Amino acid sequence: MIEMPEATTIAKQMNAELVGKTIASFGRGNKTHKFLWLNRPDEEYAAILPGLRVTSASSFGRSIYLNLGDHMLWWSDAGGKLLYHAPGDKLPKNYHLGWEFTDGSALTFALQMWGGVKLLDKSEFGEIPNEEIGTPPLSPEFTLERFDEMLDAYPEKTSKGIKGFLVATGYAIPDPIHGLGNAIVQDILFNAKLSPKRKTPDIAPEERQRLYDAIQSTIAEAIELGGRYDEVDLYGQKGRYVRLMDSKTNGTPCPNCGTDIQKISYLGGACYLCPQCQN
Ligand SMILES: [Zn+2]
Repeated sequence: MIEMPEATTIAKQMNAELVGKTIASFGRGNKTHKFLWLNRPDEEYAAILPGLRVTSASSFGRSIYLNLGDHMLWWSDAGGKLLYHAPGDKLPKNYHLGWEFTDGSALTFALQMWGGVKLLDKSEFGEIPNEEIGTPPLSPEFTLERFDEMLDAYPEKTSKGIKGFLVATGYAIPDPIHGLGNAIVQDILFNAKLSPKRKTPDIAPEERQRLYDAIQSTIAEAIELGGRYDEVDLYGQKGRYVRLMDSKTNGTPCPNCGTDIQKISYLGGACYLCPQCQN
């Protein structure tokens, strides 16, 4: 899935590559996908998009926005490859959605898992779509005080551990952190020395501070390195952020203490952790 480090990287690259280009056409690729959500019929995308010019690209947590004057394309909760193709480049064999520009360049999106690519009329909202709920790390609003309030407001704090809170989206809770997914959260919890199963009421103030710091520093590092090594950027290049806790490091020594990294199943997904360092 595209998480905040990848969304930030791709939006930055789109901003440098696509601004000023005019969309010539929109269409489906050669593949269909059950979990690809568009908010309008295809005909409306095909009717509205041609002639629109890219004015900027931006991101919010793990969402990517391609701003097209008074319209916007919005990749929300999406996973997959969003790729740029220079004029004359061959398009990938498999993709789900494609946009051609008048200069012959193109953008394709190949969905993995699930995701939405919505076309919005910007006259209906301000800088970000109305449905975007939550606070992204590294934003001025994401202070330690704010983080404390969010933790205190977590409605499921008695039944789900801290991992559930970190990956929750606006569909699940009213006040989520925007941008984290199951991948980067493993490293955040390792850096914070907290088990994914820790119940939020049991997390002491100094641990909250450690967790807040780990969110900020881990996300900043992954953005600095162009996203995670198991995801690609706008040019199909892998990110340089190598995850500490994932399937590849399972069973290898913890970088801190040498204990074998363990895999556990928790909240519908795999977690990788150091049983010695993370409590
Ligand atoms: Zn360890």
